[in-house]
Amino acid sequence: MSTESIYAALGVSRPVLLFGEKVLSDLVPRFRAIDEMAEYNQGKVLLAMQKNRVNATHFAATTGYGYNDSGRDTLEAVYADTFHTEAALVRPQITCGTHALTVALSSHLLPGDELLCPAGKPYDTLEEVIGIRESPCSLKEYGVGYRQVDLLPDGSFDYGAIADAIGEKTKLVAIQRSKGYQTRPSFSVEQIGELIAFIKKRKPTVTVMVDNCYGEFVEEKEPSDVGADMTVGSLIKNPGGGLAPIGGYICGTKACIERCAYRLSAPGLGQEVGANLGLLPSFFQGFFLAPTVTASALKGAVFASNCYERLGFRVIPTGSEERHDIIQAVELGSREAMSAFCLGIQAAAPVDSYVTPEPWPMPGYDSEVIMAAGAFVQGSSIELSADGPVRPPYAVYFQGGLTWYHAKLGILLSLQKLVDAGIVTL
Ligand SMILES: *Cc1c(COP(=O)(O)O)cnc(C)c1O
Repeated sequence: MSTESIYAALGVSRPVLLFGEKVLSDLVPRFRAIDEMAEYNQGKVLLAMQKNRVNATHFAATTGYGYNDSGRDTLEAVYADTFHTEAALVRPQITCGTHALTVALSSHLLPGDELLCPAGKPYDTLEEVIGIRESPCSLKEYGVGYRQVDLLPDGSFDYGAIADAIGEKTKLVAIQRSKGYQTRPSFSVEQIGELIAFIKKRKPTVTVMVDNCYGEFVEEKEPSDVGADMTVGSLIKNPGGGLAPIGGYICGTKACIERCAYRLSAPGLGQEVGANLGLLPSFFQGFFLAPTVTASALKGAVFASNCYERLGFRVIPTGSEERHDIIQAVELGSREAMSAFCLGIQAAAPVDSYVTPEPWPMPGYDSEVIMAAGAFVQGSSIELSADGPVRPPYAVYFQGGLTWYHAKLGILLSLQKLVDAGIVTL
């Protein structure tokens, strides 16, 4: 059986396959650069694992309180060395990215303090955490104030307004690296570093937290290399490498991580408790695989962007732009097109390939969301997935792919479904 007939059996027609191959022929230098980045970051992770003398005893399960869990402590040291921080908190007890961010925020913001978001609206789920949308137990309910400075129309930081917004009460500044569910550009680590330097010059005592979701291993540097006090993310995104079944991480200064650990468990207990429940093999191995898994996802994002750009859709980032995260937004313009795109991604999956994604009111989001995902880890978005709030401009956010070839199939099938629905002609 030829590769072409395998694609035919998977549902990709010859015209769609040929269109894809034509797009790909121009992407050779881009893919080489992605491979070089993976090579660099693979070395960085290996150095951290070797320095900490990772060995088989570190994979043992612990239960109960989890005192003296050397595997857990070693994993945290590996994260800290990779991110070049003094300490790290990496736990299955951190249930997701939103939880990790909540721990980082609520451990540092006390009644009367103010949180500043200098780069526009934060990720949807943080609106209830902060209290932008009312919620029990929000920071607002605990007396924490909030200020936001929007980006300038060209997507850059409004330095003048940021300087004005930093005041006596400003305690913590939160910067989100990735675009999330917005169509703004994602920020480079360098841009984030400039913003941090600007803020710390005006108020050296402020704590800076960076939401690093989807950004890990896309560049040589991480936000922790450019002055972030806390760098935060989810293990069912890039750093879990597709193997971690749950978890979140916070890498940062010793003082910050201590507060985060006290918030996560209890004052006085901190990092000393928290059994690993047998999850450490997947955490270590997933982190080991994360640089190449991230590279696969990046190739998928670059391919998607170039395919859809060629067909006349607005894509963010554009086909030729430099990448700062693994997310690709495609503005599809209608509910029907979003459904067709997601149907294609779903049809490519190793798990649940036969189901039809439908929009639903997902907890934490303020409009209906459609999601395509056929993942080994439920909801994992380092695995091939597409989602987006069903509201104008009807943008789908495409991300992930544990292997490049799976990401490629997903994109080809999304195109196929749009062609079949008469929305796109090749
Ligand atoms: C995914 C994401 C989050 C939240 O992570 P969950 O694991 O879904 O709770 C926060 N910020 C950004 C930018 C994200 O992409």
